[in-house]
Amino acid sequence: MSGNDSVVSLRDVDVHFENRRGMLDLFGEPETVHAVDDITLDIPENDVVAVIGESGCGKTTLGKTALGLQRPTNGTVSFRGQDVWEARDGADDVDIPYDDIRRALQIIHQDPGSSLNPNQTVMATLLQPLKRWKPDLSRQEKEARILGMLQEVGMTPAEDYAYRFPHQLSGGEQQRTALVRALLMEPDLILADEAVSALDVSLRVEMMDLMLELQEQFDTSFLFISHNLSNARYLAGQADGRLAIMYLGEIVEIGPCEEVLADPHHPYTKVLKWATPDLEVKHGDIEDPPVRGVDIPDPTNPPSGCRFHTRCPEARDHCVRTSVPSIDVGEDRNVACFRADEDSEYWDTHPLPDETAGDTGGEETT
Ligand code: SF4
Repeated sequence: MSGNDSVVSLRDVDVHFENRRGMLDLFGEPETVHAVDDITLDIPENDVVAVIGESGCGKTTLGKTALGLQRPTNGTVSFRGQDVWEARDGADDVDIPYDDIRRALQIIHQDPGSSLNPNQTVMATLLQPLKRWKPDLSRQEKEARILGMLQEVGMTPAEDYAYRFPHQLSGGEQQRTALVRALLMEPDLILADEAVSALDVSLRVEMMDLMLELQEQFDTSFLFISHNLSNARYLAGQADGRLAIMYLGEIVEIGPCEEVLADPHHPYTKVLKWATPDLEVKHGDIEDPPVRGVDIPDPTNPPSGCRFHTRCPEARDHCVRTSVPSIDVGEDRNVACFRADEDSEYWDTHPLPDETAGDTGGEETT
């Protein structure tokens, strides 16, 4: 998928943060957190991309960066070919004004309760975006549109739900309200950041089914971020979308969801699959976790070479010394592992002995 066919495209994006550990550190050198490193990602029209990874792997930062809410340290983020930050900074000759980009890129959060004003009814909350983006509509037209959308997401009778306050709604109903608020903007892309994680298990599938139905109906795309592989697989799998696996700020594997899970190439994808026994796709008879160490390395001091080498059971000397590129393995799939390249020097180097696991953080990369 070329950048021109995409709603949002990220090219070689890094997001680094300066981090001080506390008052005592005020005068010392701040540490640099590598939240996102060298990510290139296209989000096509009317599609679903699910990003999965452990807590702290940078997936939320990646989502915010894709939406223009977080400025990248390096690289570019574009919306339909328009550089988002040039538009936001008011550059001359922009093709798409920043206001249009802002409207087209919407977000629903993990905790809808905190994103809804507790003192406003559902109707008052939903009227706000329409007042800003659809000023030509009369009050009656705006209210009719809101009632129609509430009906669409199953909040019926809509006239009843419209005049409730957030505390009078269940978690699922609050999340539906947040979804309506996003959809009223007629968005091209919705970032759903752990959007079903706070819901009861029984409600998650219902909410994801609703998102899929509305994604089709409103011709929008979803960037779905989750630490839960079952949820990510359900949403991306049903939509025939892609699954992106993140580890320590990098996308280590990406491709069509079902293909990635049926035949994972990256050792970390195999770990996630092993740790998710309720997936229908089989992971063989492996009883022990396919990792050498369980501790996640410090993102302020990521391991040299391949960042997964401290945990990877397949790691060899080459993985410690050399940064691993994203390798095109066909069928719209990429993997960041030397094992995907049969000509790699990796095959001529020695497997790492177990005792080196965790000892090589922060060495210089080549
Ligand atoms: S490059 Fe090496 S350490 Fe990294 S995932 Fe592949 S085999 Fe493991």
